[in-house]
Amino acid sequence: MPDKMTDSPLTPLTDKTLTRLRSLAKGGGLDPSVIELIETKEKVFAIKGTLTLQAQSETESQQSFGRIKQTPTLRVFASLSELASEVQTLQKSFIQDGRWIDKALEELDKTKGHGWGLEAALLSWSTQKIQLAASESCPTCHGTAQHPCNDCKGIGYLHCYTCEGRGRELCPLCYGHKMDPANPEKKCWQCEGTGYAICRFCHGQGKTVCPTCKGRGSTPCTECNGTGFISQSVTVTQGARLDFTLPSTSGLPSGLLRMMSRIGNDKLAEGHADVALSYTPAEKQKPTDTAQIDLTASLPYADIKIRFAGKGALVNVFGKKGILVGVPPFLDKAVAGARQKLAEAAQGNQALQDALGPTRLMREAFDLVLSGKTHPNHLRRLYPVGLSSEAAKDIMALLMLALKKETAATRLYAAGGCTLGATLVFALLFFVPPIRALLDGLEPAESIATQLVILTATLGLVWAALTYAAKWSLKHRYPSAKVATNQTIGKTGLSALGVITVIYLLMAALS
Ligand SMILES: [Zn+2]
Ligand SMILES: [Zn+2]
Ligand SMILES: [Zn+2]
Ligand SMILES: [Zn+2]
Repeated sequence: MPDKMTDSPLTPLTDKTLTRLRSLAKGGGLDPSVIELIETKEKVFAIKGTLTLQAQSETESQQSFGRIKQTPTLRVFASLSELASEVQTLQKSFIQDGRWIDKALEELDKTKGHGWGLEAALLSWSTQKIQLAASESCPTCHGTAQHPCNDCKGIGYLHCYTCEGRGRELCPLCYGHKMDPANPEKKCWQCEGTGYAICRFCHGQGKTVCPTCKGRGSTPCTECNGTGFISQSVTVTQGARLDFTLPSTSGLPSGLLRMMSRIGNDKLAEGHADVALSYTPAEKQKPTDTAQIDLTASLPYADIKIRFAGKGALVNVFGKKGILVGVPPFLDKAVAGARQKLAEAAQGNQALQDALGPTRLMREAFDLVLSGKTHPNHLRRLYPVGLSSEAAKDIMALLMLALKKETAATRLYAAGGCTLGATLVFALLFFVPPIRALLDGLEPAESIATQLVILTATLGLVWAALTYAAKWSLKHRYPSAKVATNQTIGKTGLSALGVITVIYLLMAALS
């Protein structure tokens, strides 16, 4: 490196940036020495932030019927009031014994970035959820789970209304006259002259089973859903709310501040800066539900003046990842000549191999297109700075055009061959009597279905053959390259498919 002497080991970010830019320059066919360092201001900035913690204790309770059983993770109390007082004690002690701060710090220590940039975030820990419950006898039924039946007053039976409890009704034949209405001299045969018959509704019992309680005399208690118990379960969730503030940003370079707001404070610890945490508890004082923690982010940053092939520019380098801002598209000019040749090749006026030349960037773009990665972003991933998006887009588009030109002849022959083959198959089908007879022997609907299947199958085969032809042609030309299998068949291929369909329809109509 020509200016190795000026790169002091005190500026690792600057060194890394220059190495990277020189490698990009080389990729664009430039001499690495066109990247010259004019001056750099590099520093690891210690940015102070404050994290405010606020103790959070929330309860959520739920009523239910039936008895709740104690488990290793669930404490069950004998009464609802005992439960309520335990919940209150828990809430108070969470803040008063100060342990919440220790828990929160322990948790923050494990968190990447220690909470830098977090706003209105909830910090939780493994013991943050406490489950409690209580079951009590139902106050309405006193644990019996039943009520005496309202309709039968607990007896289970109702008086028969028809016979008023007597079990007998007036004889339906003589209406109590005791004589046979058809033969007034004789006794009524129905009631044997008594004038009464057994009640048809209660079958002589004088009472009927209470339809409400089905004879049990009681109904399930509605207050406890027939369980005899009312229960309450409470979940106490304890944690801390986090709020981050940046007290002062004065003295920080404007380029650094711009990048910080672009990346977002909460993302800063994701590979851009190291964050350290420090907490000094306030002197012995009353229990508190808030605490403040000091965070310091160490962020490397450099403002570098660089000459790109003679032209000066100010480049900002941000964070441990060395994000670059302000790099001019210096590669555009470097690949302008190669682009011109590529345009010629796309017109078919030059061989693509010659047009590519020795430039690494062009070769890399070519390999991308061959392997099916034709989007300009694939190239921009390799050259994220230095190459404009317009140039990347143009290079990829020209490469695709040029490749199409190269395979045009093969694709045309393949299309011609396929059309001829398909025509022969159709001719056999429609004009050779024994085969034609098979088709005519079918029901009209079956015949149409069969013809459709034949046409679709033929088109599918032709499409596969044309795709393969395009791939084969590329593979043949560039044996060492990785060629994508999903080649497009192009306009030639599509026309062939259209022509084959028309031929089929014509033959079907003529036959
Ligand atoms: Zn009850
Ligand atoms: Zn009843
Ligand atoms: Zn009756
Ligand atoms: Zn009678």
